[in-house]
Amino acid sequence: MSDQTRRDFLKHTTAAAATFSAGCASTQSSARLAKRDPLIVSTWGFGKPANELALKVLQGGGSALDAVEQGVRLMESSGNTSVGLSGKPNAAGVVQLDACIMNGPGHQAGSVAGVEGVVHPISAARLVMEKTPHVMLVGPGAHWFAEQNGLEVRDGQADEASYREWLAKQKKPAPGKGDKPENHDTIALIILDTDGNIAGGCSTSGWSGKVPGRVGDSPIIGGGVYVDNEVGAAGATGLGENVMRYCASYQVVENMRHGMSPTEACAEAIRRIAKTDPQGMDLSINFIALNKGGEFGAAGTQANFPYSVTTPAFSEIRKGQPLSSANQKEGGNE
Ligand code: ASP
Repeated sequence: MSDQTRRDFLKHTTAAAATFSAGCASTQSSARLAKRDPLIVSTWGFGKPANELALKVLQGGGSALDAVEQGVRLMESSGNTSVGLSGKPNAAGVVQLDACIMNGPGHQAGSVAGVEGVVHPISAARLVMEKTPHVMLVGPGAHWFAEQNGLEVRDGQADEASYREWLAKQKKPAPGKGDKPENHDTIALIILDTDGNIAGGCSTSGWSGKVPGRVGDSPIIGGGVYVDNEVGAAGATGLGENVMRYCASYQVVENMRHGMSPTEACAEAIRRIAKTDPQGMDLSINFIALNKGGEFGAAGTQANFPYSVTTPAFSEIRKGQPLSSANQKEGGNE
């Protein structure tokens, strides 16, 4: 379903909901949003099972925040090679993880960065948000905090044999040009729930072979994820250095605030970055977005950037609008 088709669909359901809520006006606050179908969007095809678990959490009465956490946790313990402790090691053979979470109501945020040995960094990020006055904890402090709060911790060192095997396959990591998509990936997952509340989170082991201590965009609020409960949410995947220098997820949400559709908001953020960046369109950056009205979309410099969309009516993998120097003026496929 394209943005437009979904818009049409939403017009109908919104009109039906408006008629229904008009009948209930005496019992409901006028500011209360009509109930709607939940919408879950995540990066890559591997996000689909995370979306589907998130939907079950919502249908079981959980909040958007609960659903984000559970969906991302599924990926963190799925054996994924770029999320969780099964993810890609840094140049010292250690898996250092980044994650963040945001809750629309109250504009809450929490994150952990460069943390070793924590099985579920997304839960650590949520605990930072809910149990401390802080937004971000890093490295050993984040590990200590997670352990103190009862989260499962393990040795962060990658298994020696698989590390050696991985090392043998690596070329010298070089930022930008020549960066291979398989060198990193992230689950970013954003949700609009039936009450119109929005939450989002992301989790990654980051760039494989990164310098120990390197932190990417994923745990940066406004980089890897941004949520504005009045507008929508966005999430990023790709080379973090090219996302975090531009507060890119924040840009996508601001583009939606100014009236762009989710797909156009993602594409416009990429065009703006490409205008400034010395690498132009030769970047590895991809974005997903949804808005308060229930529209969604994605765009990326990677051809056919796959992303996953789930509602009670369907759950599928789609392709984001491709952006490259050759096609940046074209309309794309969403
Ligand atoms: N953005 C992540 C990072 O740079 C990796 C990715 O999403 O591919 O750490």
